Amino acid sequence: MSGLNTPGLAIAQNTVATVHYTGTLAGTDERFDSSEGSDPLEFLVGHGNMIPGFERNLLGKVAGERVVFTLGPNEAYGDYDDEATQRVPRAQMPQDVAVGAQLAAQTQDGQVVLVRVAAIEGDEVVVDFNHELAGKSLTFSIQVLGVRAATSEEVAHGHTHGAHGYDHHGYDHGHHHDHDGYGGGAHDDCCDD
Ligand code: ZN
Repeated sequence: MSGLNTPGLAIAQNTVATVHYTGTLAGTDERFDSSEGSDPLEFLVGHGNMIPGFERNLLGKVAGERVVFTLGPNEAYGDYDDEATQRVPRAQMPQDVAVGAQLAAQTQDGQVVLVRVAAIEGDEVVVDFNHELAGKSLTFSIQVLGVRAATSEEVAHGHTHGAHGYDHHGYDHGHHHDHDGYGGGAHDDCCDD
């Protein structure tokens, strides 16, 4: 853990926080993501790398603290938008398209987004552009493992270069990292949250 934590330093703008987290749908035991059993999440604070409410609830915390908080949709993935669905001819879809499947789609401005197959109705497929956590209240249980000052290079790039041995110049420049949203995992989609 050396290098991850500067004793006494609290989470603030331009610090790098390392945390373990578990997210559940509020009021349920249903987990949508957790770092348990894998590497902790490390992120640069104050650069839009996380959903808005996530960082705000961690400001001022130091290593060793545990925090539990619940975010409404407006602080997480937004409200569910009934309009954000589209009917697509089945013929334009992969042969094995199934309800619940996630597909990469391109928006008009060229961004690649993940969409979900909401329904298959006759020869049409209804795709849903909402984030799968849109409209949900989310409870996060966080254990703060470390806080350190970001390097000036990290601040300039707006992301952490990490304790995972990233060779910045050989590996990660010029594309988005995998710590999207509240922390990568199953919901990565290369684009901003
Ligand atoms: Zn970088």
